[in-house]
Amino acid sequence: MHRKTPRLGQHFLRNREILEKIVTVSEISLSDKVVEIGAGMGDLTEILINNAKEVIAIEIDPALYKILKERFYGRENIKLINQDALKFAYEELGEFKVVSNIPYYITKPIIFRLIETPNLKSMTLTIQKEVAERLSAKPSIKAYSALSIIAQYYTEAEIKFYIPAKFFSPPPEVDSAVIKMDRREKPPVDVSDEKLFFRLIKSAFGQRRKMIGNSLKSIIDEPKDFLMKIGIDPMKRPEELSINDFAYLSNELCKICKK
Ligand code: SAM
Repeated sequence: MHRKTPRLGQHFLRNREILEKIVTVSEISLSDKVVEIGAGMGDLTEILINNAKEVIAIEIDPALYKILKERFYGRENIKLINQDALKFAYEELGEFKVVSNIPYYITKPIIFRLIETPNLKSMTLTIQKEVAERLSAKPSIKAYSALSIIAQYYTEAEIKFYIPAKFFSPPPEVDSAVIKMDRREKPPVDVSDEKLFFRLIKSAFGQRRKMIGNSLKSIIDEPKDFLMKIGIDPMKRPEELSINDFAYLSNELCKICKK
């Protein structure tokens, strides 16, 4: 059966038990400022208000924003914002955490937007199961990708539990997972040129079936010779390289770029 995708990723999660579980795994406390992206009809928002110091609930849809305004009228620790969450000025908030059932069509841009915001402490997100598995994947498994390394460079990512599609109304086409991503104090590897490090990763995984000796041709002149010289097997595929391997490769490359 073909299901119509609702406008703005509006799949609502109204099961109280699951919503409570999301808030529990988020480990927010009464001293936290919490941002919710896509507050919908406010069921998750209601639980967040009772467990945080302040909730900033962003909702793009004016009709839902009106419902939220009425539902939370007179509540003091909530700020409702009728805006596109991708355009919100998170940098101005001070320290904050995110707890949210993300509209799936903005999953990746919103994660990248948040990851780059230094005052974000953690995010607990309900997202497509496949994306959650990629974000938290370790080397040598199918889900391991550029997204895994970029996410794990900035955060410690862990899937907390899965939510079958049937719990949403209307049900999406895929199952979901709740992932918690805690910002690291510092990245797990030392990288001398972050731009080059991310370029290498994207280029290697952009052609993930190719051996890295071939896929890095756009960045390194003689990739096979260079890789052998620094002790990395050019026959390897990107999924066989860990974040440490990519950091080492990028740092070695940086040395000759600077010569
Ligand atoms: N939090 C509610 C829940 O758990 O049932 C709703 C979640 S629903 C998956 C996503 C919500 O995000 C919808 O209410 C939708 O209108 C809103 N939304 C979609 N795109 C948005 C955007 N760019 N910025 C802010 N909210 C957005």
